[in-house]
Amino acid sequence: KRHPEGRALRAEVDLGRIARNLDRIRAASGGREVWGVVKANAYGHGAVPVGRALASAGAHGLAVSSLEEGLELRQGGIECPILVLGGLRPEALPAASAEGLTIAVVGPEHLAEYAQSLPAHPVRLHLKLDTGMGRFGLLPSELGDCLGDLRRLAPWIEGVMGHFATADDPDQGFALRQRHVFDACLSQLADAGIHPAQRHHGNSDACLRHLVDRDTHVRPGLALFGLTTLPEGRALGLEPALALVAEVARVKHVPAGTTVGYGRTFVAPQPMQIATLACGYADGYRRDLGNRGVAGLEGRTFPVVGRVSMDYLTIALPLDVPIAPGVPMTLFSADPSAPHSVERLAQALGTIPYELTCGLHRRITRRYF
Ligand code: PLP
Repeated sequence: KRHPEGRALRAEVDLGRIARNLDRIRAASGGREVWGVVKANAYGHGAVPVGRALASAGAHGLAVSSLEEGLELRQGGIECPILVLGGLRPEALPAASAEGLTIAVVGPEHLAEYAQSLPAHPVRLHLKLDTGMGRFGLLPSELGDCLGDLRRLAPWIEGVMGHFATADDPDQGFALRQRHVFDACLSQLADAGIHPAQRHHGNSDACLRHLVDRDTHVRPGLALFGLTTLPEGRALGLEPALALVAEVARVKHVPAGTTVGYGRTFVAPQPMQIATLACGYADGYRRDLGNRGVAGLEGRTFPVVGRVSMDYLTIALPLDVPIAPGVPMTLFSADPSAPHSVERLAQALGTIPYELTCGLHRRITRRYF
């Protein structure tokens, strides 16, 4: 059956798998409380439905990148703590306060203004420390000069956080150094009378590599969606939550020698069927999967042939395969061992699974079960 919205392309998201992945990553982290990272539209899976599922499966809270992403979750009726990782300009504090958002403090430049604003517009703060990521956060060398402002902010400082740059590296030297720097900063804060209730570093890989044993909370994203780049993640039995499914829009029987698509990069070597699917690079199906990707149909896979265009791609099938408009084919499989799993496709493209799911456009219908 054609999808009622006309464009027969959908991301099917299994929320039960996300809840089970939450349990698995929580167990791997020694039962620590979880801030579930749902930024970038929950890595393409849909922020509000995924956020609701995580909250009702017992996540402590949700983490997003921006004020807008936090407001989207609140407008979706989500009431659990929401941590905005990317910081906030002081003028945005009233909006954050009105919606009960928790804010990461990402640098020293706004501390004085925060201290002025918070009595009228209270928000909970997590102080981000740059222990080696080189991006957001107060540098250890900046901490001393900030202690006065931080003392004034202490009633609102709920947590201190860092971020590992190399949690996926088998050589844990740099990650352990980051942890050491983090501990030293916490001691400095404690000496100044600042004792935050929470401390957290752990992205998915840090949870899987047991780098979180001194922390109160962890902050996984990718693993919640059942995706991983580490053998430890596969061993944990993480279940990919998303399948990308496109229904066949047209089928053509073509003679040998027919060329398909822009640039005529595919020439049919024998008579065959060409199925056109309404999914293209505008949807987030990467153009460099042209002549490389595969699509699944009832346990078999068939090659993506020719260039991927903006809204369509083409699949070659032998003449004896029953195929007709409306038949669903899988472009991203939720079976991690399939050749078109997100992990395998990312590996083939020399990228990471994050990039493939985050790239799925909002125009794709998401279906939840
Ligand atoms: N914490 C921060 C600050 C992040 O930026 C991210 C994601 O990039 C995460 C946690 C979650 O990381 P992952 O998806 O690797 O678990």
